[in-house]
Amino acid sequence: MVKAVFLDRDGVINELIYYPEQGVVDSPFTVEQLRLLPGVGVAINKFHEMGYKVILVSNQPGIAKGFISAETFDSIRDKMKEELAKEGSSLDGEYYCFHHSQAKVDELKANCNCRKPKPGLLLQAARDMDIDLVYKIIYQIPKGIIIHFHSNGEPLLYNELFSVLSWSYKQIRHFDTNGKLLLERINDIIDNCECITISTFPNDSEADIKFEDVKEFLEIKGDR
Ligand SMILES: [Zn+2]
Repeated sequence: MVKAVFLDRDGVINELIYYPEQGVVDSPFTVEQLRLLPGVGVAINKFHEMGYKVILVSNQPGIAKGFISAETFDSIRDKMKEELAKEGSSLDGEYYCFHHSQAKVDELKANCNCRKPKPGLLLQAARDMDIDLVYKIIYQIPKGIIIHFHSNGEPLLYNELFSVLSWSYKQIRHFDTNGKLLLERINDIIDNCECITISTFPNDSEADIKFEDVKEFLEIKGDR
């Protein structure tokens, strides 16, 4: 298993910038404004020593909002990497969401799946780097959001269900399973789980068992 740390960029790797005219704190929008926070290179190296990949995941709607050009953004990104290199440090990956629902730039106007806290960036990073994604995703997702963990239609967590439940059962409100595992851990999840889907197919020899599992789940769930 690959271990990974996901870091945001602004306020984590580099300083946030105060814009007095607007009275807001936001990303650096010029190369000069990009300053690493003290100790960032050391911290990243420490993670590397501990066997973690260090991956940047960041919402960067500045281009969409017209605050900064794509070229300047790239220059800022280059400077960040140069500054890290000066500290003998580097990132293992960078993932950005450039979208915004009120973007001035049409191509970037979207209610996308990659703007955090949605999991798109983390999923992408995990797909690219074969990271144990679920653990990280679950910790970034607020309660009440329903997620399907599928990969090409295959339930992704089937073999990992027990681990997943132990990580963060409160966030899990929806299961897609054959039901057997669900029943084994029912007491851990029953108060959070609001929705289950059961997959079956023509001539499924286990269809009747699945049906019984669902009935049993619903009986236990009752009015809870
Ligand atoms: Zn996005």
